[in-house]
Amino acid sequence: MAAKRRAKAPENGLLIDYEYCTGCYACQVACQQEHRWPAGMGGIRVQEIVQNLPNDKSYLTYIPFPTELCVLCAARTRKGQQPACVQHCMAACMKYGRIEDLAKEMTKPRMVLWAPRG
Ligand code: SF4
Ligand code: SF4
Repeated sequence: MAAKRRAKAPENGLLIDYEYCTGCYACQVACQQEHRWPAGMGGIRVQEIVQNLPNDKSYLTYIPFPTELCVLCAARTRKGQQPACVQHCMAACMKYGRIEDLAKEMTKPRMVLWAPRG
């Protein structure tokens, strides 16, 4: 029986602070343009989540979530540039860096630390 391949620990990733995400989709568009993805494909998808609450209330959350196609903008970061999605988010919801360093910045609620599959 073949031995199970052990996934390599990810080195870099994105820290997503979606508290102030306005759902403007600029990150999604920036990724599509940077990598020339056709419609319906891209490295990040902005999700709109409507949660019904008691007393006929509801709560709307936007969360930008990286997909299987995210390559962390390797061509840009090699040159010292920020990933396209990070650079175009006016609300500064995303930060690129080493997972180890980003984990230390997870100091508030409504944050997600994401790393691509190795
Ligand atoms: S890091 Fe680059 S590839 Fe990944 S979602 Fe952002 S723009 Fe797309
Ligand atoms: S993460 Fe930033 S760029 Fe993306 S939808 Fe939210 S506010 Fe807009």
